[in-house]
Amino acid sequence: MNKGRILVVEDEHKISEIVKTYLEKEGFSVTTASTGQDAVSLLRNKFDLIILDLMLPDMDGEDICRTIRQDADVPIIMLTAKSEEDDRIKGLGMGADDYVVKPFSPRELVARVKALLRRSKGARESMSFNNGDLVIDSFRFEIKKGGAVVVFTPTEFKLLQCLAERPGQIFSRLQLVNVILGYDFEGYDRTIDAHIKNIRHKIEEDPREPSYIKTVYGIGYKFIGTPDED
Ligand code: CA
Repeated sequence: MNKGRILVVEDEHKISEIVKTYLEKEGFSVTTASTGQDAVSLLRNKFDLIILDLMLPDMDGEDICRTIRQDADVPIIMLTAKSEEDDRIKGLGMGADDYVVKPFSPRELVARVKALLRRSKGARESMSFNNGDLVIDSFRFEIKKGGAVVVFTPTEFKLLQCLAERPGQIFSRLQLVNVILGYDFEGYDRTIDAHIKNIRHKIEEDPREPSYIKTVYGIGYKFIGTPDED
């Protein structure tokens, strides 16, 4: 049974073979690419998720990430040898949804793949705020700001959806991590902050004077948009 199509972009053959073996054992269909060029040329095939090594011989993982994001909101897990937290956050800023730091256990990676696929399949109705200014369409997986579609990563989408489903409720960063990531993640506070920053950049006219996501000092965030009447 095919549980989804996954593209693994990794120049270290040993690693990509191990990842492929584990994912196939779980019922995923796996395509591998060992260079950035290969990966980009494969993108016209629709994948359900992409596992992307940050360090490739020909292209920077960051550039590939941006290329993918230009026209697709496919979930991306970044593989990185860098363990610095700043690099992780930089990765989230460039559009990756999750990270796995090398060396990693293949089992952990498979668990992350499943979790990310689960939360990227957000499926409910449509919510509208501030007289139609912000529309969150969970069925079409689409955010509209001022009538125009804004590209969101699956994680950003899930985060905004979670906040907007309960306007006025204060969420701590840890709660948001639990809702969205569903597992322990080192440096989660700043991870959430990085996602919130990205979301604000996309939907707020003035991120310093937010109309939608307000920072609750010392605790976390809350959604302050006004739900439209049906
Ligand atoms: Ca590499």
